Amino acid sequence: MKIGIGYDIHRLVEGRKLILGGVELESELGLLGHSDGDVLTHAVCDALLGAAGLGDIGRHFPDTDDRYRGISSLKLLAEVADRIGRKGYRAENIDAVVVLERPKLAGRAEEMAGNLACPLGIDPARVNVKATTSEGLDATGRGEAVAAWAVTVLREEKDDRDGD
Ligand code: MG
Repeated sequence: MKIGIGYDIHRLVEGRKLILGGVELESELGLLGHSDGDVLTHAVCDALLGAAGLGDIGRHFPDTDDRYRGISSLKLLAEVADRIGRKGYRAENIDAVVVLERPKLAGRAEEMAGNLACPLGIDPARVNVKATTSEGLDATGRGEAVAAWAVTVLREEKDDRDGD
């Protein structure tokens, strides 16, 4: 078994959508980023890559590459799933926490978990998404940014898909 951790933070700005775990939320501000700015999915990608010993999201999908401009981060997650799969790993579970002042995520957390589980080919029950505020402290607390943490456990599969 391998354990990985992921962390990301993106700035909240006007004129962008707020997308977390592939779910578009109602908000006057959205997350700035080269992709869709989905900070939760980025943290999950980094946890998975970290556990597999594959570096980080910036190495796999550089923000200097126009192919990733505005891309849905769930597509990046699908690519990550493929890369960890080729190394012989499968996600056992993922736990994530999103740090933001508003909006409340509770009603959409299951939908996010489903979106994150789908490209990984795992049961949504193995993905847990929760949210917290920073009580008005720091950039997330002032509503200037959204941050996310994710932890994952990968299991080594016996039948390595491409045989290396
Ligand atoms: Mg990011």
